[in-house]
Amino acid sequence: MNDKAHIVVRDVHKVFKSDERSVVALQDIQLSIPAGQFVCLLGPSGCGKSTLLNAIAGFSLPSSGSITTQGVEVTAPGPDRGMVFQEYALFPWMTVEKNIGFGLEIKGMEPAAIQTRVAELMHKLGLYDFRNRYPKDLSGGMRQRVAIARVLALDSPTLLMDEPFGALDALTRRNLQDELLRIWAELKKTIIFVTHSIEEAIYLADRIVVMTYRPGTIKRDMLVDLPRLRDPASSEFNALKRELGQLVMEEQQRHHNDEMKMALVD
Ligand code: ADP
Ligand code: MG
Repeated sequence: MNDKAHIVVRDVHKVFKSDERSVVALQDIQLSIPAGQFVCLLGPSGCGKSTLLNAIAGFSLPSSGSITTQGVEVTAPGPDRGMVFQEYALFPWMTVEKNIGFGLEIKGMEPAAIQTRVAELMHKLGLYDFRNRYPKDLSGGMRQRVAIARVLALDSPTLLMDEPFGALDALTRRNLQDELLRIWAELKKTIIFVTHSIEEAIYLADRIVVMTYRPGTIKRDMLVDLPRLRDPASSEFNALKRELGQLVMEEQQRHHNDEMKMALVD
């Protein structure tokens, strides 16, 4: 365990209790993430990926254990950690430009400085020509660009992304993946990116953390040492895909068995 790492997750457990039952969503999670690393949390639905990301974000604290960023304990959401969700979470009544600048306005930045910063981000993400549009008049891919620009506006060193491209078609998804890699390389952010897509994890990550289904533990923590941009048709890519496919399938099977059991009980 490297205590000097940018983000350290130590002995984290998370239990969700309801009247009928309790679910151990996370168990014994240990992770230390150096600054600038691109980490993907991979696993089938229900294995605790969002729970872990939300705990790092400070939206929902662990039942026990600790999470620190730059040595400081996470107790709430903070400006050092920007979150991008799958469902865009834009303000429908604000234009693209207003949405991106909103966080800066809240921070009390001067309007002229906001305008400069937002214009720069809109250019960076190909949004400038869309600056006066409302979210409802944008495609899913464009909306997600706005969501990313909005987080980048705050200049957080860490980006937390929960299946941000999950709802996009394949071509748009690849475009945004490439864009994200470009931004990551340029701005040197630390990224923790949740996905259930094996291919997406291999395409993006420096490091893939595979999680198990109930309880959510770390099943495998591996570095991906392939040069970028990666070629999904290459033999190295496919060897890794097979290896990870096996690991994820085992967990998917456990998920399936669990559901069958519950169906029999009901
Ligand atoms: P993933 O993001 O990998 O699909 P989640 O982190 O959403 O998984 O969920 C992990 C487990 O915790 C699941 O079994 C889910 O049903 C349970 N869970 C998540 N959030 C809650 C909650 N707020 N209350 C009760 N159970 C929850
Ligand atoms: Mg999730």
